[in-house]
Amino acid sequence: MGNLVSGVMHRRLLQLLAEWRDAFVSSGGIADPLTVFSACADHLLLVEMDGACCRYVHYGKAFADHFGTDLTGQTIDLVPPEILPADRREMLEFEYAVANRTQRPLWRSYTALFDNGRIETWQRLVLPAGGGRLVVGAFPMEGQPMAADQDTETATGLLRLVAERLPVVLDSEGRILDVALSLKAFGDTRQHIAELEVLASRDALTGAANLRHFHHLAGLELEHGCRMGRAFSILALDIDHFKSINDSWGHAAGDEALRAFVATCRTALRELDILGRCGGEEFAVALPNTGEEAARTIAERLRRQVEEMALHPAPGATLRFTVSIGIATQRPGSPTHLSIAELLARADNALYRSKAEGRNRVSTFA
Ligand code: GH3
Ligand code: MG
Ligand code: MG
Repeated sequence: MGNLVSGVMHRRLLQLLAEWRDAFVSSGGIADPLTVFSACADHLLLVEMDGACCRYVHYGKAFADHFGTDLTGQTIDLVPPEILPADRREMLEFEYAVANRTQRPLWRSYTALFDNGRIETWQRLVLPAGGGRLVVGAFPMEGQPMAADQDTETATGLLRLVAERLPVVLDSEGRILDVALSLKAFGDTRQHIAELEVLASRDALTGAANLRHFHHLAGLELEHGCRMGRAFSILALDIDHFKSINDSWGHAAGDEALRAFVATCRTALRELDILGRCGGEEFAVALPNTGEEAARTIAERLRRQVEEMALHPAPGATLRFTVSIGIATQRPGSPTHLSIAELLARADNALYRSKAEGRNRVSTFA
């Protein structure tokens, strides 16, 4: 097994590759992949190639659970966008075609913002099984997306970077033979740019806009609002006693609480509102076309929905928490034009009042 690959490839895919080598290389075909790879069956797709069309003949339970759809028996142009965003489908078809043509393993890692609002990195290994059939294993990577901890100083770091962007062709021993390039898919680098944009603009844990991206989006809305003579409000949010969640339930439960918090914020907010993670357990919301009273209504709704949330970090255990909120508003027609940074500072000031007055409340900058 190539040393570099084993340092970067998902552990379960390494196992799949070894099993495939044992079953495929001497025989040139695998009659019953589901039995041979039974340890990975939940994360396995079996695909039949018919010219350019692919039919899923098995769609593992992990995908059905994760994406809520079972594709068994379907052709690839029906892959729903929540499973595979349309701009990525071309890449998948390309990988299947290359593996089928070369009869070599193809490995790729990809990071995307999925419909559930999470940024996830999945690794995929496409293996020929003979007779136009492919075995595809795919596993989500735990923790941060690959590019977030890349170490470009080392050969492994370099391989991470390559695998994050291109499918890599392996020999039967798992050594790198080539990178697979499709002029069709990469003639322009739209897909590559889309993946980098997701990584650069979104917080990896929650999928909320990161602070830089929040400033950018909120700034555009504020400017537009000012020109149109509309009000604009900012909420500053800070989860109450968050440290004690980590202390009582562990950091992983704290992470889950942050994700659940963001999911709840999304239901309380409107389509045009912008949610950003400022850092740690601090968030901001930009409310275009919203005056002080309406901002208060939204903030109260959000506060109440968070208060009503219940998580279950362990069987039989319930975790609840609250949030404190501060509001600042740019009034229409006001002679002072505040920047996003100034509005955020004012909202923060109001937030500190909410904390000082007992938490789990909404205050307005006065
Ligand atoms: P307060 O009500 O005054 O806001 O108290 P607090 O405990 O929420 O505030 P404090 O600033 O003392 O603690 C914030 C904690 O948030 C400390 C830090 O370890 C934790 N934290 C920050 N980012 C993350 C994260 O990404 N995941 C997890 N699990 N914890 C985080
Ligand atoms: Mg804080
Ligand atoms: Mg806090």
